[in-house]
Amino acid sequence: MSYAKVLSVGLVGVTGHLVEVEADLSAGLPAVVMSGLPDTALNEARDRVRAAVVNSGERWPNRRITVNLLPATLPKHGSAFDMGIAAALLGAAGELPLAALDGVVILGELGLDGSVRPVRGVLPMVVAALRAGIHRAVVPLANAAEAAVVPGITVKAVETLHRLVAYVRSGGALLDPPSDHPPPEPLMLDLADVAGQALGRRAIEVAAAGGHHVAMFGPPGAGKTMLAERLPSLLPPLDDEAALEVSALHSVAGLLPEGGRLVRRPPFQAPHHSATLAALVGGGSGLARPGAVSLAHRGVLFLDEAPEFATRALEALRQPLESGRVLLSRTGGTTEYPARVQLVVAANPCPCAKPQGDAHCECTPLARRRYLGRLSGPLLDRIDVQIELMPVTAADLFVTTSGGEPSADVAERVAKARAAAFARWSAERWRVNAEVPGPRLRQPPWRLPLRDTQPLRRRLDSGSLSARGFDRVLRLSWSIADLDGRDRPTVDDVEEALALRTGGGRRFDG
Ligand SMILES: [Zn+2]
Repeated sequence: MSYAKVLSVGLVGVTGHLVEVEADLSAGLPAVVMSGLPDTALNEARDRVRAAVVNSGERWPNRRITVNLLPATLPKHGSAFDMGIAAALLGAAGELPLAALDGVVILGELGLDGSVRPVRGVLPMVVAALRAGIHRAVVPLANAAEAAVVPGITVKAVETLHRLVAYVRSGGALLDPPSDHPPPEPLMLDLADVAGQALGRRAIEVAAAGGHHVAMFGPPGAGKTMLAERLPSLLPPLDDEAALEVSALHSVAGLLPEGGRLVRRPPFQAPHHSATLAALVGGGSGLARPGAVSLAHRGVLFLDEAPEFATRALEALRQPLESGRVLLSRTGGTTEYPARVQLVVAANPCPCAKPQGDAHCECTPLARRRYLGRLSGPLLDRIDVQIELMPVTAADLFVTTSGGEPSADVAERVAKARAAAFARWSAERWRVNAEVPGPRLRQPPWRLPLRDTQPLRRRLDSGSLSARGFDRVLRLSWSIADLDGRDRPTVDDVEEALALRTGGGRRFDG
């Protein structure tokens, strides 16, 4: 026999596709030819596979070897095909009868010594295999727990190529995924830790209820970071579909928690302002790594000291914020990753970050305007909640020695509010208030009576509120009404929404 094939899986973005790994041996000068759109890593695979086969005690076929990966049109990245290539060419050489691998996907990178190394993206690969009707997978031992969280497919593991060969040749044992209990979800930071800050607490509660992006302005020590870090604790846990989606992204990034557990809580990502563009939106060679904006998918992306981010970085976030996905240009096409995030940005009022009115701050009004102006175009345009926070006072700390209301209680209100919004908009295509276009809220049946929008129209007429700002306040009013269990916003809700929009009198209406 001089031909054999096995099954593997390739990833395009976070979506897996079944790949047939074919090997053919023919007369001619000994050589290995790879075809089927291999990238650089696949060419390196040639050397890895040869060393691994020889160092596993197998005979390397000294003939002309053609390895082909099908479908040819699928871009293929990474090293997960190594083990499949080794099996297929040993099969083609007549060294291995491959019947035992019928209907089994083979995933794993080979080390030169014949060890099998973990690969990124095993979770979505196994999901893809299952969707293609495959019910058995052999994966690297280090990825086995991750692969085993997918129900409906039998996962076996190997730590060496030799173990796979022994299994195929003589029924040797494969390994089972580790059966220890997965580690519990890490505890989330709790809102009970935040002293005082009534405006900030209310702002993130409303933001959680309506899915609104948030901007917080204020000096260091005002609690901006504490509040942002606690927003995920107010959001509903991820449902099965979302958990799989988020876990797949973390798997492709190689960041899934060890021990095999789906990500069930909304993720929180806080990239530093010096982060590279690739770290922020994704990139890198081979199988592109998802960036922070995708790792925060269905969770919170927090940009602290947002004006310090490079303009390019802020601009690069515009597309994912609009479309909920990131497109990365790659050789051989575009890679797409989901990136639907709730954005929280924080900024000091001026570049020197000293308290306002402090004798040491010498920033001119122009310098301050410029500093915050860096945010205006790309980001602030899309942010409904914009508040200014003051430093926590000693009085706050003493009055609230018992701590604030815990996250669990707030999350309960948020869940009810989200259910109300979902019910209202379900006939249309929106899930949360933040997604509803402004004009829709100004038309029947959602238009509020004139007397209830009086405070807004006064501001609009005087020029202290833009038309866009008007719509934002309407959206926030609905979230406040949902939280408080009213089926329509009242004039009080509109007033409160206005405060969450222009808190502290500062306006960034763009
Ligand atoms: Zn200053």
